[in-house]
Amino acid sequence: MIEASPIDDFYERDREMIFVGTKVNTIVRGRMKRYLDRKGFLEINPVIISPISDPLNHPVDDPTLSYYGHKYRLTKSMIFHKQLALVHFDKIYSFSPNIRIEPIERKSTGRHLAEFTQLDLEVKGVTREYVMDLAEGMINDSIVYVKRSIETEKLNPYLKKYEKPFKKVRYQDAFREFGKNFEATMSADAKEPFWIIDIPLQEREFYDREKDDEEGVLMDMDLIYPHGYGEAISGGEREHEYERILTRISKKGQRAEDFALLLKAAMKGLPPSAGFGIGIERFVRFLTGSEDISSVVLFPKKIGEYVL
Ligand code: AMP
Ligand code: MG
Repeated sequence: MIEASPIDDFYERDREMIFVGTKVNTIVRGRMKRYLDRKGFLEINPVIISPISDPLNHPVDDPTLSYYGHKYRLTKSMIFHKQLALVHFDKIYSFSPNIRIEPIERKSTGRHLAEFTQLDLEVKGVTREYVMDLAEGMINDSIVYVKRSIETEKLNPYLKKYEKPFKKVRYQDAFREFGKNFEATMSADAKEPFWIIDIPLQEREFYDREKDDEEGVLMDMDLIYPHGYGEAISGGEREHEYERILTRISKKGQRAEDFALLLKAAMKGLPPSAGFGIGIERFVRFLTGSEDISSVVLFPKKIGEYVL
């Protein structure tokens, strides 16, 4: 069988859909930049390749490349660079391209691409609550502006400015009430975005901070979109002390030598911080009420497909 050419696919794109998607993408990025700049954030350039990147909590192919004799990875998220940036700055963000060669099972979720952009931000010396409030304000601001700028029939019919603060549900409570697939069930039922907080250690990477008063539970959170659109944001307070990072790496069964650069930085001093990442393409999908994330992206890296 001859594989379809990605060029044929490209010429057959639904122009209306990619136009609206790209227009909303343009508006949202501009609006979020404005929101953060006004709050004193600095925009840092994205890092594309580095000896360190996010280990993630689920298996993805992790291609490496040779960089002047060193092993480099493609950025899966800028988590460690965000923590490092706070050595010199107080509040930072980046529109960061992430490469995650996701497992093939994620092909039909409607919300996974192998290349996407996170607005990834981090703030020195603040709590999880500070960044949650920031996220709520920023999302509402973008929604109001998108509704003002784009014809209603091209947007998600349910779109509105949501009442703050958004509801917070503990992971344990969500799990107890709705079982393993609580996120999908709760998202489908919800009319407003809501937070899942206090996610257990085994569900997340080692860098989210473990609670002082509850072992195995983290000071982190996910924001879930309503109407079945699923996860919007992941974030939390971070581990920044050398000994604690070392303990957390070992609790995850990972190898300290793989994170030697981060540990060296922690020894020299990493500031305490909290932050999050919001997937831009997923936000555009939600705003436009699209079933599939690929339909609103000009060059979607569809999972498992030969694409441009
Ligand atoms: P994570 O820290 O892994 O939760 O990623 C941060 C955010 O990026 C998520 O909450 C999503 O909005 C977005 N995201 C993560 N993985 C993907 C993907 N494969 N495709 C599109 N967006 C993604
Ligand atoms: Mg997540």
